[in-house]
Amino acid sequence: MHYLDNSATAPVLRESAERAFTVMTADFGNPSSQHKMGIDAAHILKESRETVAAALHAAPGEIIFTSCGTESTNTALFGAARRRRKGHIITTAIEHAATLSCCKRLEQEGFAFTYLAPDETGHIPAAAFAAALRDDTILASMMLVNNETGVQLPVEECGRMLKRRCPEALFHIDAVQGLFRVPLTPSKWCCDLMSVSGHKIGAPKGIGALYQRKGLHLPPLLLGGGQESGLRSGTEALPNIAAFGTACQIRAASFERDVQHVETLRQALLSGLRERLPWALVNGAGDVPHVVSLSLPGCKSEVVLRVLESDEVYVSAGSACSKGKESHVLRAMGLDKARVDSALRVSFAPFNTTEDVEALLTGLGKAAAMLKRG
Ligand code: PLP
Repeated sequence: MHYLDNSATAPVLRESAERAFTVMTADFGNPSSQHKMGIDAAHILKESRETVAAALHAAPGEIIFTSCGTESTNTALFGAARRRRKGHIITTAIEHAATLSCCKRLEQEGFAFTYLAPDETGHIPAAAFAAALRDDTILASMMLVNNETGVQLPVEECGRMLKRRCPEALFHIDAVQGLFRVPLTPSKWCCDLMSVSGHKIGAPKGIGALYQRKGLHLPPLLLGGGQESGLRSGTEALPNIAAFGTACQIRAASFERDVQHVETLRQALLSGLRERLPWALVNGAGDVPHVVSLSLPGCKSEVVLRVLESDEVYVSAGSACSKGKESHVLRAMGLDKARVDSALRVSFAPFNTTEDVEALLTGLGKAAAMLKRG
């Protein structure tokens, strides 16, 4: 099996799965319980929060555990907008559906929006962000790394500009595809809120986190027992939380080595394409090595996906979340239909090998020969 769809989701690390199992079956107390089992569970919660906070270069008190990246983003955007009741919000046309769907709802509630368009490389120009700022801007939300192209957005510049022009406005960063791809430094980015997700880094599905800058208190989406500093009520999903902490520990220990390794894999893929399929097109600047978007014009991506799958090679057509819909990201970049219809996203994780790249190149050659009749 050659799994190259790690931006959709990554396999759970053995250590994370074992940790979750132990917490499920042995350390299964409720962290709110007053007896020893509860106190032990609360200790695991505390330790896990410290580990995840370290991965985000944040303080433990700034980490709110959620069920996924989508919930983190919903909590951030609805909380940040509704506390001001009206105003102007800046985001980009290339955000994940988790952000764009919240924006659509907030538009219906009367908030004004500016959606920044990318250039043809997939980048969002910082100058466009500066031009979009208004006196009534209350919030800006942008991703750190785009899930379809691997392009990095200018969060540091935009965060500074936002705070200079609108000091009361909040800045949310969707860092779901940035965690352990690039170092996360929210305070350097003037970031108030940041979303991450466990299942992209080797933790199970069903765990995410929201960084909420110290001193900020958003209104909650979920009301109840007041867990997670009152922002996210509900008994904590301790097995998933502990597994997320373990995954962060492991990924942090090999971060630089992993990035170098993944860069080697990307270079092997790009040089293989140049040699064997020189007419293949790479979409976007690909600032992080983990994601490569490529198009084989004339070869529909759904069909290529099936050919690859028959050899147990797994990639995405566009993003996994778009479920066969045309990519709004590639369209916003102004790419033509043939290129969008044939787009594939290859996404690497540290466990991938050059054999995986070789299997992909062989599969792509096979698909191209079938679909373009040699
Ligand atoms: N944001 C980005 C950039 C993503 O790629 C994803 C998932 O693909 C999400 C948010 C949603 O994260 P989750 O699947 O944890 O809800």
